[in-house]
Amino acid sequence: MTLHPPPSSQAGAQRPDLRFIIIGAGMSGILSAIKLQEAGFDDHVIYEKAARLGGTWRENSYAGIACDVPSHFYSYSFAPNPDWSHRFSPGAEIQAYFEETARRFGVDDRIEYGKEVERCVFENGRWRIELADGTTDVGDFVIAATGVLHHPAYPDIEGLDEFEGSMFHSARWDHDVSLAGKRVGVVGTGSSAIQIVSALVDEVEELSLFQRTPQWIMPQENPAYSQEEKDEFRRQPETITALRSEISRMFADGFANAVIDANSPQLVAIHDACVANLESSVQDPILREKLRPNYRAACKRLIMSEDFYDVIQRPNARLVTEGIDRIEQSGVRTCDGELHELDVLILATGFRVDRFMRPMEVVGRGGSRLQDVWRKRPSAYMAISIPEFPNLFMLNGPNGPVGNFSLIEVAELQFDYIMQLIEWVRSRSCREVSASHAATDRFEAERLEAAKTTVWQSGCNSWYLDDRGVPAVWPWTFDRFREEMAEPRRPDFELC
Ligand code: NAP
Repeated sequence: MTLHPPPSSQAGAQRPDLRFIIIGAGMSGILSAIKLQEAGFDDHVIYEKAARLGGTWRENSYAGIACDVPSHFYSYSFAPNPDWSHRFSPGAEIQAYFEETARRFGVDDRIEYGKEVERCVFENGRWRIELADGTTDVGDFVIAATGVLHHPAYPDIEGLDEFEGSMFHSARWDHDVSLAGKRVGVVGTGSSAIQIVSALVDEVEELSLFQRTPQWIMPQENPAYSQEEKDEFRRQPETITALRSEISRMFADGFANAVIDANSPQLVAIHDACVANLESSVQDPILREKLRPNYRAACKRLIMSEDFYDVIQRPNARLVTEGIDRIEQSGVRTCDGELHELDVLILATGFRVDRFMRPMEVVGRGGSRLQDVWRKRPSAYMAISIPEFPNLFMLNGPNGPVGNFSLIEVAELQFDYIMQLIEWVRSRSCREVSASHAATDRFEAERLEAAKTTVWQSGCNSWYLDDRGVPAVWPWTFDRFREEMAEPRRPDFELC
């Protein structure tokens, strides 16, 4: 193993031969292709298992889907969009934005659709890729842009198969099922369920929301942008840049930098705002108590909604807080023996968040297998690199920042970091780069220690927590994330 001097970014096109394989044509995969192209790397391909790009925005087409991160912030920094319809725009618009951006930056031509990567093997200093259709490819780098909230989690409820009405997961919405005038049940009270409930209440005959755990709801208006505002954004794109920076700063200071201390003034203010929202919005004291969580706001991912409390008080809405005993042919039977008859059952029950690029088989240096390395749970140095898996980098990988801010900003910062690692190879400082075991162990130990004071560990259950109840997320400030991503620490990597 030889350590080399810090690579120079002057190295320019010293390795024009490098080939990049990007897995997934969602937000991060499209970003990777654009950034590689911009850096002068022409030889890259995106393998996408579906027939369409868009990742989470392709897969989630449920009623009411929107992004609760402001649209001008949930956009690439280099591709501002003056035409966002709302402060928080609907999912279809976001999907169209990714399609348009991919087309405009020429990424479209790089995507091979219907190509599922099954296996990546590091051999002879390069990655050999095996696809489900039997074809293979070889590349110098693999960028795993496979998403976090990708594999639907189906609830372990007895009798699920017995239901004779229509049933589907929120991320597998069945658009052939008409909901108008139907008795519809929704299981779950996460961000997806709350958006669904608000969108459906006027259409359906009866809406039953099966709540296992109540949620704090942050009131959030969603004004439309006027034509004048959009014209102004188009005439003066710098106003979008300024707005983006302002929102970014607001999110960092008001939320992301605060979640690491459950008692921070910002979180106390958020908690108070949620309590006030509940108190002032829900008239019936019994319903109000059923909706009142017994944990701190932002312990689970904070829900934003302008109308959930209004919706759940409509005459055709029912909040069911009794536990689900089993699913039967005609509906949901709760533990008190009551049968809630339904025509349609929607499972808004979240995702298997510990999967990442799995079930893909990944074999690193010396035959190291990812499924063994991640047997207990997934981990990665800085959420990006795994020891013994050289030249393979993840975007929005394990233990990275999550929360109510833009994963696009996270991915952009991560990709700038990854680009510096690639630069070490391009400049011939090394041929292979991966995080060292020592740095990864140290990072993990520091992460566990820091996680103890975060709001996520303040007494609730959520998808942020791993099998030990430890938040599997970035436990420091967003400012620290930005600083870490500015420049890789060279001693933390094994170069050879
Ligand atoms: P989620 O937050 O994981 O919520 C899943 C819900 O299903 C929870 O309320 C959970 O109850 C419930 N549940 C699971 N199994 C159950 C069972 N067996 N019986 C009864 N209830 C059960 O999933 P999600 O709403 O799809 O959201 C996942 C993440 O996607 C969000 O946190 C967010 O990061 C992202 N998202 C973002 C947006 C956005 O606007 N940006 C919108 C939607 C989703 P418990 O709480 O009791 O576990």
